[in-house]
Amino acid sequence: MQPYTFTPIGLIRSPFKEKFGIPRQPALAKSARMTLQLLPPFDQPDTVRGLEAFSHVWLQFVFHDTLARGWSPLVRPPRLGGNAKVGVFASRSTHRPNPLGLSLVPLLGIDTTAGVTLQLAGADLLDGTPVLDIKPYIPFVEAVPDALGGFVDGPPPTLTVRWSDTARQQLASQPAATELASLIEDVLAQDPRPAYQDDPERVYGVRLYHSNVRFRIAAGVAEVLEIATVA
Ligand code: SAM
Repeated sequence: MQPYTFTPIGLIRSPFKEKFGIPRQPALAKSARMTLQLLPPFDQPDTVRGLEAFSHVWLQFVFHDTLARGWSPLVRPPRLGGNAKVGVFASRSTHRPNPLGLSLVPLLGIDTTAGVTLQLAGADLLDGTPVLDIKPYIPFVEAVPDALGGFVDGPPPTLTVRWSDTARQQLASQPAATELASLIEDVLAQDPRPAYQDDPERVYGVRLYHSNVRFRIAAGVAEVLEIATVA
């Protein structure tokens, strides 16, 4: 078969500046917001005319940050503890023969004052992710309430999130502190640690917007230790 070439129609701007900490699916961090800025020649209001009537959109995008790692027939989903293997096509792994992702996200608004920017919620994408296509979500065709979810049937367990006094004080001086606090809680509740790590003393750092959030996890509780501004 001949190879096909596709051109990105837009770029994602998201709070996630690195892969660590990004939720594994969009609905898992409801407070995460992102934008999709359309690129020329697609950044004209005509391309999104009528889209505002839909509450959700499908985004097809490139896993551009992991392209170089190729793919293998079997993968180890984090949801199975990182040990059991399933076929790549039975997974949402980023390491696929064609490194394409698919996310269903709430459409909050469309700004056409300068180019075209979509306001989106529930981000599971790295900042700078190239988007290949947008399609409206059609509930009567695509909502399947009694569908089987295989090894990902139901949401994953979540952690309780607590704040140290230091982190609370530092939060107050961060821009958009309330939104940042919700985002931090959503991200940490998902337990971003690799599946095989369980060291209660280990301090992790995750970058969200322009903040570096340091935390540790013990006995089902994630504690926010510190929030520093990244230069
Ligand atoms: N909802 C999409 C899907 O099902 O195709 C993505 C699922 S994938 C498991 C989500 C993970 O992809 C995130 O947790 C993050 O680690 C990774 N990711 C997000 N954006 C990426 C990018 N541009 N390049 C590589 N990996 C990315």
